[in-house]
Amino acid sequence: MIPRRKTRQVKVGHVFIGGDAPVSVQSMTSGYTHDIDACVAEIRKLADAGADIVRVAVPERKDTEALKEILKQVCPNGKTGGDSGGVPIVADVHFHFQRAMEAIEAGVHKIRLNPGNITDRSQVEKVIDACKERSLPIRIGVNEGSIIERKDKQKRMKELGGVFGDNKHGHFLAIMVAKLEEYLDIFYARNFYDITISAKSIDPLLVVAAYEEISKRFDHPLHLGVTHAGPKETGTIRSVVPLGHLLAQGIGDTIRISYANDPIYEVQDGLELLYILGLRTRKGAELIACPSCGRIQVDLFTLTQNVNKALKAQIHLPIKVAVMGCVVNGPGECEGADVAIFAGDKRGIIYVQGEKVANVPEEQILDRLLEETRKFQSKVERGEAKLGEKVVDILPPDPLGELGSGYAKIEAEKAVANGVSLPVMKG
Ligand code: SF4
Repeated sequence: MIPRRKTRQVKVGHVFIGGDAPVSVQSMTSGYTHDIDACVAEIRKLADAGADIVRVAVPERKDTEALKEILKQVCPNGKTGGDSGGVPIVADVHFHFQRAMEAIEAGVHKIRLNPGNITDRSQVEKVIDACKERSLPIRIGVNEGSIIERKDKQKRMKELGGVFGDNKHGHFLAIMVAKLEEYLDIFYARNFYDITISAKSIDPLLVVAAYEEISKRFDHPLHLGVTHAGPKETGTIRSVVPLGHLLAQGIGDTIRISYANDPIYEVQDGLELLYILGLRTRKGAELIACPSCGRIQVDLFTLTQNVNKALKAQIHLPIKVAVMGCVVNGPGECEGADVAIFAGDKRGIIYVQGEKVANVPEEQILDRLLEETRKFQSKVERGEAKLGEKVVDILPPDPLGELGSGYAKIEAEKAVANGVSLPVMKG
């Protein structure tokens, strides 16, 4: 387990952030909030995919006006979590503090403010007081993109001074921290501590530097993210490298991965990142698959894709399933899998917790693997087996000879080297 940095805890609807709460996954709707039906559908889709918290943009009054109805539909009886199935909603506020006031009135569970564009102290105080009255937390988001002055040219030039020198990160970091401290003073002066902080940037190295620095200075929970990470194809690496680095150090209490794509991928990838770091308990099966190589004698890519799809639909326990192209490296690479298949010459051998249960031709691999996985799931549910109890431990030559492929090839190569001709083994 990764030891987590101690932070104060805040509560967003039924979801705790910080303290000993698990790291939560957030996402944001991509459509217009005032399009009530579409917004509700998107929130539900994200919640079904596993989002713990969903944020919506409220740039106009018609958006905050729509919030009341949206909240009524996604949080039945005003509740989140448990049987209600409701998901906490955050209003993302920029430029107009009135939108925050209207969103609070509508019943949202958290407000996000940007110190880069809501700067009037008395306006910020109004939002703080309204949130305090309803025990709502506020996220202060000091994004790199909006932290530098935009309206006042002189001030902007002063803030940008040195940015293009050697110390771009240090310069931006200093501005982000200074503006954050200044903003936090307004909150502290009103005894308001239900705060989460984010310091996003498009630059992954600045993200790491900013969160490391902020985590040393404040004990508020941190919302991690890389802003405008781009399309999923490249945005995954841009996001996961800094977020993984920070999370592995115990920094970060809630995350959002941002893609220029359907936000469903943000939730899926955010959860997967937390699963592989052991920061959340996986829901559903975990699939391990080999990348395939010149030893392959089945259509492994199609098999893996089909197994992946079927596991998502049929398996709800965190069963570890391995799909290996051959038995040369497969057994070692999938140690710890509950269910494993090793393919050979157009066939595959299936193991369940170290025990061989079948040797089937290629066309039967998918169905049999799923059947065995479902059977194993039922056994676990009945208390007759435990996940991860027995590791896959397959010692050569079994099943090398049985599968025919890897073994036959290895022996044939050896024979050629020795000038002897061997009959090819069949599984
Ligand atoms: S398991 Fe076999 S086929 Fe798959 S990558 Fe490893 S050696 Fe190649």
